[in-house]
Amino acid sequence: MRRKIFALFVLSVCLFATLTASAAATVTDVNWGVNQYNVLRFVVDLTESSRYNIDVDGNQLYIRVPGAGLGSKVARRSTIKSDLAKSMSVQRDNGRVTIRIPMEKRIRRSEVHSFMLRQDPRTGRPPRIVIDVESNKKSVASKSYGATSVNRRPTPAGTQKGNGSPAAVPAYTNYKVGGGLSGKTVTIDPGHGGSDPGAIGLKGNKEKTSALAISNYLCSYLEQAGAKVTMTRTTDVDVYGPYASGRDELQARCDVASRSKADVFVSIHHNANNNRSVGGLATYYYPKTNYDARLARCVQTRMVNATRMNNYGTPQADFYVIKRSSMPAVLCEVGFISNQREEELINTPWFQKTVAKAICDGIADYFSN
Ligand SMILES: [Zn+2]
Repeated sequence: MRRKIFALFVLSVCLFATLTASAAATVTDVNWGVNQYNVLRFVVDLTESSRYNIDVDGNQLYIRVPGAGLGSKVARRSTIKSDLAKSMSVQRDNGRVTIRIPMEKRIRRSEVHSFMLRQDPRTGRPPRIVIDVESNKKSVASKSYGATSVNRRPTPAGTQKGNGSPAAVPAYTNYKVGGGLSGKTVTIDPGHGGSDPGAIGLKGNKEKTSALAISNYLCSYLEQAGAKVTMTRTTDVDVYGPYASGRDELQARCDVASRSKADVFVSIHHNANNNRSVGGLATYYYPKTNYDARLARCVQTRMVNATRMNNYGTPQADFYVIKRSSMPAVLCEVGFISNQREEELINTPWFQKTVAKAICDGIADYFSN
């Protein structure tokens, strides 16, 4: 009996050692960005979730990941373009990775916020530590994030609820549903952008690029038909700011629609699947109003008729932008970028115009009763 217990003990020690060893994280990338509120954000990409420490010593900021390895592609020294700091260095010593940022002035620990994001299976983004350093200077909205100045301070990290926290921009629910497309307001949301490429095809084409091209054509067709259009982005940028949490980035897109009092919200994406032979079209909706499903059917029917691609129909999904936008909304998955034939197709101007015209016609059908 004693021997059995001892054997069990040895086994569990071995198992524990194995688990601990396999859980050691490696830092694979360190990025920085400045958002429209002049918050300096650092993002540390990891192979696994990990413990980390933030220390402030005078004007030095240290981000430490104990027990972590350091990937060979991580720049050991980088320049930062911010009022708050000009450079950072990354090194591995004493069995940990240390990122050191000399700040331009003394900072307090309370000015530094951090949180850990889990791996995102949809976008393939790795586990990452996000560290925000706030400037107590009056924030100046940066032009580089498009015309989408969001009227709220970023949610302090750590108090983020993810769900159920009220949006600071009042939800717009006075949307119109009939009487023709002319005079209606449509918010177009080109998926991803800036620091987030979305899905990437075998040939290296990025979802954010063709989604924007289709969105720009859709904007022209809608305007020709007399609609007013607002876009969540018109260039290759993040809407909220680089390397934002998914919630901040997606809520910023919903806020654009509410602020422009949109009658419908249309998000443009491409699908991806591990099975590279899968291809076709889908239009997702979330049944939050009596009109979301109808909008999805109108758009999907026109896209399928115009392109003759596989029809995956109009599934329900609780994707953030179609659930949290306050007006009828759809998310179009325009082909599979993981399918080589469709990757080529969705990057041709001919296809981009054809599908944009079809989506425009679908929106017109929706408003036609
Ligand atoms: Zn997408």
